[in-house]
Amino acid sequence: LIADIQALTTHIRKPSLIEDSVREVVLDWLAVGLDPTRPNVHFVLQSAIPELTELTTYFSMMVPFSEMEKNPTIKEELERLGSAPTAGFMIYPISQAADILLFTPCPPEKYDELLVPVGADQLPHLEGTNRIARHFNRRYGNVFLPCIPRVGAVGRLVGTDGQAKMSKSLGNAIQLKDSADTVRTQTAKMFTDPEKLRKGDPGRPELCPVYTYHREFGESQDNLARAEGCRSGQLGCVQCKQELADTLNDFLEPIRAKRQEAEGMDSNYFVQEGTRVAREIGGKTIIAVREAMHLDYKSVFGNSKI
Ligand code: SF4
Repeated sequence: LIADIQALTTHIRKPSLIEDSVREVVLDWLAVGLDPTRPNVHFVLQSAIPELTELTTYFSMMVPFSEMEKNPTIKEELERLGSAPTAGFMIYPISQAADILLFTPCPPEKYDELLVPVGADQLPHLEGTNRIARHFNRRYGNVFLPCIPRVGAVGRLVGTDGQAKMSKSLGNAIQLKDSADTVRTQTAKMFTDPEKLRKGDPGRPELCPVYTYHREFGESQDNLARAEGCRSGQLGCVQCKQELADTLNDFLEPIRAKRQEAEGMDSNYFVQEGTRVAREIGGKTIIAVREAMHLDYKSVFGNSKI
């Protein structure tokens, strides 16, 4: 899902940036190997699915606002927001629940669960999504499936500045499309153990984001030696960062090549086609939701649609 409506929670003043970013997201996905020509891979534009907005509205009537205020991810993001949150920001976990549950296949009895790939920081949102699904099913009848999170090998990557989350808007991210030189510059600026000021000082790799990246992207044997070198002081941060830049560039090179290839493709077609399929699935779910909630108003309109 290309969550362009959710992007408005933080970029309401920059709608053109969101429009430009849609293509960038698609190129990134193609670059990392998502293949929308396969039958079960669909690139879906959130704002082109009005049923998502409708489902968000229904769910927002069911969830106490206090639950949003207690959500740990919301709390963390509020600290970084730097301005008063909008109502839309505060309820974005509800819209995420709609983003997931709208695509419950119909009839749900044929399936056991929805598998949802997420970052580790999104787990509270999935718990909330399951609460909403259970609540809805108990009150109105079985429409939604439970969702099961699938967290990748790297659940969440720290920012280059040491902040808990890497984020483009915080300027602490290394992007898939970054050139080898940009990766070198970004890596050279990375936060390190503040007590290791020069080569020779003993360092604490476990507190250093550079080492976190080495651990996630490098070879484990090299990392054991690297941690030793850091602790003993023999390894300096400049060299350690240069080695990280090499590792990241090796990792990113094939992704960059694929991204370049993707730039020649008709990425709009993938979004149009994926969104069309998603609307077919979501359209069935929303009909089931309206029926369950007595919002189809057969008593007023009969079977004719308005
Ligand atoms: S040597 Fe490497 S792991 Fe140790 S503090 Fe410096 S950058 Fe971090």
